[in-house]
Amino acid sequence: MTTTPLLEVKDLHVEFRTKSGVAQAINGLNFSLNAGETLAILGESGSGKSVTAQTIMGILDMPPGHIAGGQILYRGEDILTMNETKRRKLRGVNISMIFQDALSALNPVLPVGWQIAEMFRVHRGMKRGPAKKKAIELMQRVGIPGAEGRVGDYPHQFSGGMRQRIMIAIAIALDPDVLIADEPTTALDVTVQAQVMRLLKELQVENNMGLILITHDLGVVADVADKIAVMYAGRVMEAADVYEIYAKPAHPYTKGLLESIPRIDAEGDRLSAIPGLPPSLTDMPSGCPFNPRCPYATDLCVSDRPELLPAAEGHYSACHYREDVYQGTIEPRQEAQA
Ligand code: SF4
Repeated sequence: MTTTPLLEVKDLHVEFRTKSGVAQAINGLNFSLNAGETLAILGESGSGKSVTAQTIMGILDMPPGHIAGGQILYRGEDILTMNETKRRKLRGVNISMIFQDALSALNPVLPVGWQIAEMFRVHRGMKRGPAKKKAIELMQRVGIPGAEGRVGDYPHQFSGGMRQRIMIAIAIALDPDVLIADEPTTALDVTVQAQVMRLLKELQVENNMGLILITHDLGVVADVADKIAVMYAGRVMEAADVYEIYAKPAHPYTKGLLESIPRIDAEGDRLSAIPGLPPSLTDMPSGCPFNPRCPYATDLCVSDRPELLPAAEGHYSACHYREDVYQGTIEPRQEAQA
């Protein structure tokens, strides 16, 4: 018997109409998320990962954004065809999001306790007193010391890490099934990053939430993600269980990303950055979108676009040579690098 995933994105296409043409921000995206699972969506800026989050949340600016096709199924029901009232109810209650920059996401002129309590007043119809009590409980739950005395403080009176915890408190206030965290720790220093990631993981386990972690940093996902989808130029290039991706990447782009992060077990090895830049979304290369930067590219890569297909069981890659990359038997093709 197959169970319906909590969230399923099917063949999603999102475009932006710009002065220089139509930018294909998301190009046939597919993934699914189950309860209690953490999916990391990884990619450089412009890969489409944040547009994915905004499209799921219904906060994409339209225009210039335009959903050109596909489905986003929440418990089997397409969010994109729901009426606005139902979609609005879904957002914030069943599906919630935390953003990179807590300072601009929080209202600077309202006490943080008021902002948390508002979730209970608006969505649960609670009175001020009980809503404030719930806000204090949530502040304690996300690890804000002296919560009772700080409920009337304003966002600027908290450190970056504490503000991020307040935003997490708002996002989880109504026990969502799905939490989307868009670069939640980018603005924080490394120690605080680890604390916030630990908190997110704890809350996810407690509430059996599906967590989508959007990041450009392969280093932050190793301890928290169950599976990873690597995005490039609006497409998933590789998707697999987290251990598989780290141990045996099956796409040259992921392999390049892994070789560019420092590893304690590879002392003395030189780090290498992926040469070149991601393609312009208004002027995609033919064939594989990674071919101008790929050391293994052949004529086939320039003429034919590879589909996302299995390289091993449960491990998908959009590369013509996915099995060779997975086995580690592929060699760079010098003439293709010239
Ligand atoms: Fe590189 Fe070709 Fe694979 Fe694309 S299909 S990643 S260009 S080897």
